[in-house]
Amino acid sequence: MTAPMYLELFDRNPFGTNCWLLGGDGDEAVVIDPGFDTDGIHERLRRSGRRPVAVLLTHAHLDHAGEAGMFAGDDVPVLIHGDDAVAYDDLERWNPGFENPLEPVKDLRTIEDGERVRLAGLSIEVHHTPGHTPGHCSFEVGTTLAAGDLVFAGSIGRSDFPNSSPEAMRRSLRWFLTLDDGVEVLPGHGPRTTVGRERASNPFLADLG
Ligand SMILES: [Zn+2]
Ligand SMILES: [Zn+2]
Repeated sequence: MTAPMYLELFDRNPFGTNCWLLGGDGDEAVVIDPGFDTDGIHERLRRSGRRPVAVLLTHAHLDHAGEAGMFAGDDVPVLIHGDDAVAYDDLERWNPGFENPLEPVKDLRTIEDGERVRLAGLSIEVHHTPGHTPGHCSFEVGTTLAAGDLVFAGSIGRSDFPNSSPEAMRRSLRWFLTLDDGVEVLPGHGPRTTVGRERASNPFLADLG
């Protein structure tokens, strides 16, 4: 029998962005999308007896990634898809005319579709799910999917930014629908849901062509 996954939500910020704290056995944790309140997230981890070993970013929008560099400091790597890592080098090339201030990251590492990263006692599969941004990723851990701004309960992420692609978004949403109904979805905003519930009731998934 495997121990239940450590899972906490930290969402103390003005954008209502979810920061997910995940871990397996032991005292380590990975932190998904620490966009705000570095001290608050560290405090939450301390209270849970966990130390962060990596930051995973679903994408480079400031509400998900703004403070990631500050949170990670000198020792913790920050993982992001290469197409959104561009935001750290050249914001204007990544998303022309878009205001998106990011704290610099000391140890930025890129991840790719299909890659499996082993961190904090977890095996995490990276799925490149572009559309909202070019390098948007979703992270599959067991029967849980951290979906960022791909799918929300009853809604989906925007695909009308300068660097969005509605066509890529449709492909990513079709991929989402290939997942089992029982997969629990941890969205980037709003409450948790499941693939089955969204398949049955999310109007934005009803007609993808
Ligand atoms: Zn976003
Ligand atoms: Zn967002």
